[in-house]
Amino acid sequence: MSPIAEIICVGTELLLGSTLNTNAHYLAQQLAHLGISHYYQTVVGDNPERLKQVLDSACARSQLLIFTGGLGPTPDDLTTETLADFFHTPLEERTEVIDLIRQRYAQRGRIMSPSNRKQALLPKGSHLLPNPTGTAPGMIWEPRPGLVLLTFPGVPTEMHRMWQETAIPYLKGRGWGQQVIHSRLLRYWGIAEAALAEKVHPFFQLNNPTVAPYVSYGEVHLRISARASSVAEAQALIKPVEDKLRHITGDDCFGADQDSLASVVGDLLLNQEASLAVAESCTGGGLGQLLTGVPGSSRYFIGGAIAYDNRVKVSLLGVKEETLAREGAVSHSVAMEMALGIQSRLQTTWGVSITGIAGPEGGTSEKPVGLVYIGISDENQQARSFEFNFGSIQGREWVRRLSAHTALDIVRRELLTALKK
Ligand code: AMP
Ligand code: MG
Repeated sequence: MSPIAEIICVGTELLLGSTLNTNAHYLAQQLAHLGISHYYQTVVGDNPERLKQVLDSACARSQLLIFTGGLGPTPDDLTTETLADFFHTPLEERTEVIDLIRQRYAQRGRIMSPSNRKQALLPKGSHLLPNPTGTAPGMIWEPRPGLVLLTFPGVPTEMHRMWQETAIPYLKGRGWGQQVIHSRLLRYWGIAEAALAEKVHPFFQLNNPTVAPYVSYGEVHLRISARASSVAEAQALIKPVEDKLRHITGDDCFGADQDSLASVVGDLLLNQEASLAVAESCTGGGLGQLLTGVPGSSRYFIGGAIAYDNRVKVSLLGVKEETLAREGAVSHSVAMEMALGIQSRLQTTWGVSITGIAGPEGGTSEKPVGLVYIGISDENQQARSFEFNFGSIQGREWVRRLSAHTALDIVRRELLTALKK
C-alpha cells in the first residue's frame, strides 16, 4: 500500500509570485502517474518557524513528504537545517558531497566557495539523493518509522532529473507507486457547470473512479479518474461510468480528452461528406481560425468572409440593404442572410454566420454589448438564427471567443440532428 504523499515547496519567491510553482505541478503529475495519492500541497517561505508549523500538520496526515527548494548555499536556504532541527537530529558533513562540489567547480575552472560546505551537511542517518547536474544534493530520510522525507533543490531541471533517476526507483523499490491514476475528461459546451452538476450529482459520491466537474474558458468538464494497477484496468473502471454520464447528459457532451469543438465538427462534416463556409462580423476570422487549427480541415472547410462593415455584408454576401435598414446589422435576419450568402457564394453544404456587438462601445439599451446572432443555413438552404447575450462584464475578447465557439456548437448540434434524420 502506497503512503499518502504531500508536496511542500519552500521559497519566498513563490509566495511573492515571482516564480511560478512548476515543481508542484510536475510532482503532482508524477504522483498521479505512480498512483500515489496526495491530499495537500503547501508553499511556505524561507522561514524556519513557519516551515516547522507546516511540518507539524504534514507529519500528522501524510507519510511521504516531498520538499523542493531551500537547499542552496546561501543563508536563506534553510530546508535541511530546519528538518534536522525539527526531528532533533544532528547534521553531519558528508565528505563525498564536498568532493563532488569541489570537482564541479574545478571543471569550470573555479574554486569552491566556503558557503558551499553548507550543502554537504545532512542529518545523521539520512541518505544522499544525488544531483547529477547541480551542487545541491537532496536526501532520502526516514526520521522515524513510517515517515519518509525526500528533498530536492528548487531548480526544476535538477529536480526532474533527481526525481526520475533516484526517487522513482527508490519509491518502486519500496513497493510503492505500483498503481496508476488515469483520467478521462468529458467536454461540454452549451450547459452551465451548475446545471450539469445537478444532472449528474450522484456520481460525485463515487470512490473509484471519482467524478468531478471543472470549468475552463467557457467549456465545462467532467473528469473521471480511476486508480488501478494498469492504465487498461483504470480504463475498464472508467468506461461504464463514462457511458452512464454520456447517456444522462446527451448531446451537451461534445467530446473527450483531446477533442475540441472544431475537431468534432470536422469529424461530423467528414462523415457526412459535407462542407462548411463562414461569414464573420464581430469575430473577425476567429471562427475560421478555430476551424483551420485542425489538421486536415481543408477536406471540409472551404473558406469564408470577414464581413465587418455593412458594405461587405451587402456586396460580398448579398445581405439586403433594406434588411440592414429595417433590423440593423446585429439581427436575426442579417445573420440568416449572411449564412445563406456565404453558402451560395462558396457552394457549400452548410453556411454559418456571426454578427454581434463585442464592445466595449456600440451597445444600446435595445442592443446591448454582448448581443450576438448566429445564423446557420442547412443543406436545403433553409436558414435559422439564434440569439445570445454573452454580457459585457468579461470584455470584448470573451464575447468574441464565446461567439466563435458557440457557432461551432450550433453547427455540431445541427449536424447531429441531420445524422439522426
Ligand atoms: P532554491 O533551491 O530554493 O535555491 O531554488 C533555486 C531556484 O529554483 C529559485 O531561484 C527558483 O527560480 C527555482 N524554484 C524554486 N522553487 C521552485 C518551484 N516550486 N517551482 C519552480 N521553480 C522553483
Ligand atoms: Mg530558495
